[in-house]
Amino acid sequence: MPVPESAGFNTRAVHAGQAFEPRTGAVVPPLHFSSTYAQDGIGGLRDGYEYGRGANPTRDSLQEQLAAVEGGTAAFSFGSGLAAEDSLIRALTRPGDHIVLGNDAYGGTYRLINGILGDWGIGNTPVDMANLDSVRDAVAANKTRFVWVETPSNPLMKITDMAALADIAHDAGALLVVDNTFASPYLQNPLAFGADVVVHSTTKYIGGHSDVVGGALVVNDPELADKIGFVQFAVGAVSGPMDAFLTTRGLKTLGVRMDRHSENAQAVAEWLLERPEVEAVLYPGLPSHPGHELARKQMKKFGGMVSVQFKEGEAAARKVAESTSVFTLAESLGGIESLMNYPAEMTHASVKGTELAVPENLIRLSCGIEDVEDLIADLDHAFSFISNGRTGS
Ligand SMILES: *Cc1c(COP(=O)(O)O)cnc(C)c1O
Repeated sequence: MPVPESAGFNTRAVHAGQAFEPRTGAVVPPLHFSSTYAQDGIGGLRDGYEYGRGANPTRDSLQEQLAAVEGGTAAFSFGSGLAAEDSLIRALTRPGDHIVLGNDAYGGTYRLINGILGDWGIGNTPVDMANLDSVRDAVAANKTRFVWVETPSNPLMKITDMAALADIAHDAGALLVVDNTFASPYLQNPLAFGADVVVHSTTKYIGGHSDVVGGALVVNDPELADKIGFVQFAVGAVSGPMDAFLTTRGLKTLGVRMDRHSENAQAVAEWLLERPEVEAVLYPGLPSHPGHELARKQMKKFGGMVSVQFKEGEAAARKVAESTSVFTLAESLGGIESLMNYPAEMTHASVKGTELAVPENLIRLSCGIEDVEDLIADLDHAFSFISNGRTGS
């Protein structure tokens, strides 16, 4: 049953692509593991299904659901966020093309663009996306195909004006690509602000339970969809049926999870702000955040990610990172359980020594959906190791 476009976010998340199975009435569509499909005579495909790399009903369900929640006309699901990014770049750029990206882009994105695709003739310029003049200059300086931005960014939580970037990109004949992993489609829909392509690491909030790796691209232009769909099929970095199913299951509850993630992160950020050990709290939900007003325009709520910088520097950050027990020290984010990350050595180790390097006095918190009192008590306990002067000095 098609879900009307006027349906609310949660209705789309629960129902788009999820019609019950007609033979038995099974409310949850069955998982299709088959790699191939019987043909009624040569070329006689049933409903277009031929071979699992090209199409799989479980992946199709997820793709329909993803398109519906992002407000796109087509979505493509991949084996990881980086596989999605790689397929996007192959589909829509050619040697000699250039990518202007945020100077605090996710380390793995920069590694892919600079370290892998650079050798294939794709140039890049990292810039401060908050400085629109420098974005415009960087776009004009080369044959720019993509302006690539994350908002909020990772881990500095910078907020960027997507509509302004879309204008700059479009004026130069380029496309705006927004990595919407941090906000998730519940909090923000970049296509509505003029973006051409939305990228997701569905490993994070969309999957939401830290039990599946995946990525997605969402577009609303049929020509872009054709090109991306062709690379998805011809290169084959697709998500498997079980991964697609787990991602679909996660996405159904995205709205309720994001409400709690946002509520918990806001309380944690406000608590951190009062602590004498803290130099800066980076959270767009705080009125003191330079991107607060813009975030209010672009986002429904402010999300679950909070970064903190310590006055006593790297030693304090490392001590806190290693002293929590409800927050687990681990890479990744966006799961129901709270995670602690020391980006300089963990998620962003690949950009150490470059202009994308992350401050060494910073930790990044992915606030889960646990009881917020327990999250704060855990941080309070970890902070006691700093105030006790046991920072290893
Ligand atoms: C994790 C992440 C990616 C990469 O996705 P994978 O699923 O790990 O390949 C890209 N962008 C952002 C913002 C991320 O957090």
